[in-house]
Amino acid sequence: MGAPSAAAVLPSSLWWDTLDTAPTPRPALSGDRSVDVAIVGGGFTGLWTARELLMRDPTLSVLVIEAVTCGFGASGRNGGWASALFAKGDDAIAARHGREAALAMRAAMRDSVDAIGHAVAADGIACDYVKGGTVTVARGAVQLERARADVLHARSFGDDDLILLGPDDVADLIHVDGASGGTFTPHCATIHPAKLARGLATAVERLGGAIVEGTAATTIVPRAGNRGPQVHTTHGVVDASVVVRATEAWTSTFATSRRSIAPIYSLMVATEPLSDATWASIGLTGRPTFADFRHLIIYGQRTADGRLAFGGRGAPYHFGSRIDPAFDRNETVDEHLRATLDELFPALHGTTFTHHWGGPLGAARDWWSSVSYDRASGLAAAGGYVGDGVTTSNLAGRTLADLICGIDSPLCHLPWVGHRSPKWEPEPLRYLGINAGLLAAQLGDRTERTRGRASRVAATMQRYLDAT
Ligand SMILES: Cc1cc2nc3c(=O)[nH]c(=O)nc-3n(C[C@H](O)[C@H](O)[C@H](O)COP(=O)(O)OP(=O)(O)OC[C@H]3O[C@@H](n4cnc5c(N)ncnc54)[C@H](O)[C@@H]3O)c2cc1C
Repeated sequence: MGAPSAAAVLPSSLWWDTLDTAPTPRPALSGDRSVDVAIVGGGFTGLWTARELLMRDPTLSVLVIEAVTCGFGASGRNGGWASALFAKGDDAIAARHGREAALAMRAAMRDSVDAIGHAVAADGIACDYVKGGTVTVARGAVQLERARADVLHARSFGDDDLILLGPDDVADLIHVDGASGGTFTPHCATIHPAKLARGLATAVERLGGAIVEGTAATTIVPRAGNRGPQVHTTHGVVDASVVVRATEAWTSTFATSRRSIAPIYSLMVATEPLSDATWASIGLTGRPTFADFRHLIIYGQRTADGRLAFGGRGAPYHFGSRIDPAFDRNETVDEHLRATLDELFPALHGTTFTHHWGGPLGAARDWWSSVSYDRASGLAAAGGYVGDGVTTSNLAGRTLADLICGIDSPLCHLPWVGHRSPKWEPEPLRYLGINAGLLAAQLGDRTERTRGRASRVAATMQRYLDAT
């Protein structure tokens, strides 16, 4: 197991199939090289970091080292929710760093949704960015209770923007079978992820940054004596003043960080473009992203070309943190996602599904995302976003750029900066624990559907996650 192979086939996702131009591979690294900042990984984290560094200091030499092609990872495959969600809950942040820190984190996430909008407008990146918010539907009394609790929780952290919806308000936004209410927040934009990743890569080059593709980092070596940090790659050694690790799920493939991140799979399906009549019976006119209040997360968006792109968890964690292109598809999850859509939107019955794909995202043991820079070793990193990395990676890029350039901005004092997560357990405990969590969510949803009461198993699992 190691970095993704340079010969890896691009995931056959809706997003890669609907790029305006087919991606042309960039050349690989041609021998040893020396730069100011070397960034390993050409996903959102790596590309935002490169962009933001060059915006702050155009004289820097910045090199992005990507094993396959920019956007190959989760960044080019995701659900396209640029939301203000942060993986770790407010209560846990407040318990550790105080209420002000939790409020600052919330505000920074909201600002980041807009920061993406400003950046894509400034750089001319046509990635279908539309800030239409998120509608989360409650189906049944138990889910409605969770919706109410969410709104109360948001209020307790000063957020008046998350509002409770009655069934009629929900119907104004989305027509979901059995909706008993829901919530709406304006703080989410819909994007086409592969267009954003590819557009960012071009923007980095326009700013003077360099990108090599088909080049895998094999080792990242910290500063030692007079020598700065280095990246050893399949195509040569890169000497740098700073090395940024932006490899998310693949972080577990480096010998020095095997147990820091667990790769967890999220999978998606997409329909053919739907007719106007079908859209009239579904809604989503302003293109808000949508979900519901079940335990096993689902997420969807109406794409700019009129399809439904819809995803969810449910794929198993693979023993030993294995990542394999074969895991990007899963027949059971594929069927489950289609059946869920069919149940939510009966008008979809008989619709053709054109795509099924997925990929690994990264989770730290305590579910905290983090960003770090250690001046002594010259090493920086960001990740562990779980399923909320589209916006968080933008915040990571801006934060890393400030830290590396020595700009003491408020971003550098957010509670996730310098956070150190514990390591995951060795196998087989890791395998058993993660898959038990998955099972608890599935069983919880089944109990709530069939018995109409809140699941104690799922609630216990949630409390455990919040507390760790
Ligand atoms: C199906 C799916 C749906 C999702 N939906 C959403 C969503 O709607 N909203 C949201 O906020 N988040 C979502 N996420 C999560 C989000 O996509 C990620 O958190 C985010 O894209 C992570 O960006 P990244 O740049 O850190 O990592 P990645 O995009 O995974 O990039 C890492 C890059 O590093 C490269 N790499 C790995 N190892 C090496 C090496 N040794 N040398 C060189 N390069 C290497 C990889 O090829 C890859 O391109 C989803 C994820 C998945 C899989």
